[in-house]
Amino acid sequence: MKAVVDQDACISCGMCVSTCPEVFEFDDNEKAHAVVDPVPGELEDSAQEAAEGCPTDAIHTE
Ligand code: SF4
Repeated sequence: MKAVVDQDACISCGMCVSTCPEVFEFDDNEKAHAVVDPVPGELEDSAQEAAEGCPTDAIHTE
């Protein structure tokens, strides 16, 4: 699985970073991005949970 953050849509709420810190981190401009590509199998469920919980639907998985 691949997780991509649309940084134009990210409002820096921190939800994904707290839900799945193994995959999502803030970068220098306070926008979230995925730090692993692809997302390891054992992290797919929490990454998907983060994507579904993002208030602006900024996280896309494929
Ligand atoms: Fe940005 Fe969405 Fe993550 Fe919040 S949950 S920090 S809006 S990508």
